[in-house]
Amino acid sequence: MPSSRTQTYLNFINGEWIPSASGEVFENRNPANSDDLIGLFQKSNAADVARAVEAAEAAFQEWRLVPAPRRAEILFRAAQLFAERKDAFSRDMTREMGKVLSETGGDVQEAIDMAQLMAGEGRRLYGQTVPSELRNKFAMSVRQPIGVCGIITAWNFPMAVPSWKILPALVCGNTVVFKPAEEAPLSGINFVQTLVDAGVPPGVVNLVTGDGPGAGAPMLTQPGVKVMSFTGSTATGRAINQACASTFKKVHLEMGGKNAIIVMDDAKLDLAVDGAIWGGFGTTGQRCTAASRVIVHRQVYAQFVERFVARAKTLRVGDGLDPQTQMGPSITEAQLIKVMEYVHIGEDEGATLATGGTRLTDGALAKGFFHEPTIFTDVTPKMRIAREEIFGPVVSVIPCDSLDQAIAIANDVEYGLSASIYTQDINHAFAAMRDVYTGLFYVNAPTIDAEVHLPFGGTKATSNGHREAEIAALDVFSEWKSIYVDFSGKLQRAQMDLEEI
Ligand code: NAD
Repeated sequence: MPSSRTQTYLNFINGEWIPSASGEVFENRNPANSDDLIGLFQKSNAADVARAVEAAEAAFQEWRLVPAPRRAEILFRAAQLFAERKDAFSRDMTREMGKVLSETGGDVQEAIDMAQLMAGEGRRLYGQTVPSELRNKFAMSVRQPIGVCGIITAWNFPMAVPSWKILPALVCGNTVVFKPAEEAPLSGINFVQTLVDAGVPPGVVNLVTGDGPGAGAPMLTQPGVKVMSFTGSTATGRAINQACASTFKKVHLEMGGKNAIIVMDDAKLDLAVDGAIWGGFGTTGQRCTAASRVIVHRQVYAQFVERFVARAKTLRVGDGLDPQTQMGPSITEAQLIKVMEYVHIGEDEGATLATGGTRLTDGALAKGFFHEPTIFTDVTPKMRIAREEIFGPVVSVIPCDSLDQAIAIANDVEYGLSASIYTQDINHAFAAMRDVYTGLFYVNAPTIDAEVHLPFGGTKATSNGHREAEIAALDVFSEWKSIYVDFSGKLQRAQMDLEEI
């Protein structure tokens, strides 16, 4: 039950913190301890979204004309504020979504890095100047803002992912309506409050909290929303893509993954084990880039499995606020049940449960959604545990006989986000780098740990062809205008008036 001290958080629309038109709120509880009520958040509806879009449309008329270097100064101040608030925001994040403090610190750091990167872009936003085909004519292109950007995000990187979207949207001159995931709304509020404190004017960034159908779906049909940028599951992304088609929104989707580490027979095995532990069980396996498959050459398969299983057994599972903890809880009871169902599926499919497989309920763990780090061995590529995104601490180890076979297995899933290879053979490394069809690839490192100044995104059912972060993000949140200036004083016709050299 909420106590009298329970804080109620509000939506942020047109520069004001206000309650939802619905009059309803929802609870946000700590997945490590369901007694810990973090707060009550607005259960927003279509009326709130319409109001937020209206505010963002009005603010766009002025914000698009603010010189980009001035917009960037606000982002630079935001970077400084994120850095000052990093510890507090990390603690809030660990409390609301469970990952360990060092990881939530990394999440806030992404927002700092992205704010710095985009602040720099405010003095670039490069276009092209190219020679004209004609004398006395000038040809160039400029980036133009698009308008109101709808931003819908997942809970597992509740500050990093919004920063990848909202900061480039702002530097390009767009305005924003942001719906954070219902499982991690406090981090969304911390993010928006920081932008406001840095000087973002009223109406430029608006926030509505709530669930997907109530507060996310109304954005998709709003004609005032010109860009929809989404991070979440492939099923939701598909529905969003379809819903946005009738109003011709520009749609940017970053979705699920089933990422593979390839371990060749010449790999440094302890290094590969380190990578598989971090890639598989970091963020409790709840990363889009999680290494949920490890494809191991049969020559070293037994040795790798022995060391990998031994290491997984030593992982300390618990509350992420405890500095000793190495792996936190699943985000919700429903997600934990999904993990347990996949353990049954793996057993029924004939894979060997090498370690884990059980919910943890000893002592304080009973109040959270904890599960043992789990490894299946003798997995074949057609098993569901080798193909479907589980989004939990479950890793499938698949034997292979050659690099070609390993690459074929790595590619034989619907997703294409990240992959890696452990090998000492540079030829193997380059062949895999070229032939594994993913948006991210690592050599002698796990499938996670992207940096903001390289493009981030996937292929196939992971993405719809755009990329986040880096200047690739500017392509999502701006559109090109090509400009021709004729200073000849007469009609000149390109392709027709071919001049003498
Ligand atoms: P989800 O698809 O259930 O929810 C994501 C967001 O969409 C939430 O804010 C939710 O409220 C909203 N939503 C749900 N239904 C909606 C609807 N009908 N209309 C509009 N909005 C709706 O995903 P999740 O469980 O929060 O996140 C986990 C998924 O996100 C995994 O599949 C993971 O791989 C993926 N993910 C991908 C990346 C990436 O960059 N590729 C990064 C992080 C997470």
